[in-house]
Amino acid sequence: MLRAVIFDLDNTLTDFMRMKKVSVEAAIEEMIDAGLPMTADDARKRLFEIYDREGIEDQRVFDKFLKEELGEIDPMIHTAAIIGYRRGREYTLVLYPHVKRTLLELARRGLKLVILSDAPRYQAWSRLCYLQLQHFFDHVITFEDTRVRKPDPAPFMRAIELLQMRPDEVLMVGDWPERDMVGGTGVGIKTVYAKYGDTSGAAVSGANYEIDDISEIVGIVDELLDGDT
Ligand SMILES: [Mg+2]
Repeated sequence: MLRAVIFDLDNTLTDFMRMKKVSVEAAIEEMIDAGLPMTADDARKRLFEIYDREGIEDQRVFDKFLKEELGEIDPMIHTAAIIGYRRGREYTLVLYPHVKRTLLELARRGLKLVILSDAPRYQAWSRLCYLQLQHFFDHVITFEDTRVRKPDPAPFMRAIELLQMRPDEVLMVGDWPERDMVGGTGVGIKTVYAKYGDTSGAAVSGANYEIDDISEIVGIVDELLDGDT
């Protein structure tokens, strides 16, 4: 019997890449205004190279960028970058349509809800709290909880342990087939591919279900619950 739904966070509930792009653009604009001697195109290219190299959650990206480009961290340009980035983030950290209503529908059916994210603990919690999602979830599992990333079985097993359920009693929803689907399937959890969040456009997801809108989960859940009775 289905008893819980596990959600990936970034690009599954939140439109993370859109937030990242807008925030970086705002930071670049502020840096150029503060005297950065580069074009916006060059700055964008170099910043995303650093994200590719260091990880998209890198918190010192502007320090590294300025050191590499100018040989030093100019305090005015650095501060301008951070202020611009934060301002961009305020406007663009948003949920995909129908997220809250869907979570509420699932909670009404008595299902436990879990976040399983590879993001660092503070970043994951700040996104959840900013979006006022924190009360929906029974457990929030982030990178620090197991120190390994999906598709390693450890974070999935941690979720199962905390829930005190069997893998066949939970459903995993995520946007990244190589991590969310491979990891879930590997430990015997059924998976739902959030196609709308995947910018890489995977042709074959390997998931049990594919959705174009998060609200489609409600139908899948009802089908699974009906199948059990
Ligand atoms: Mg994701």
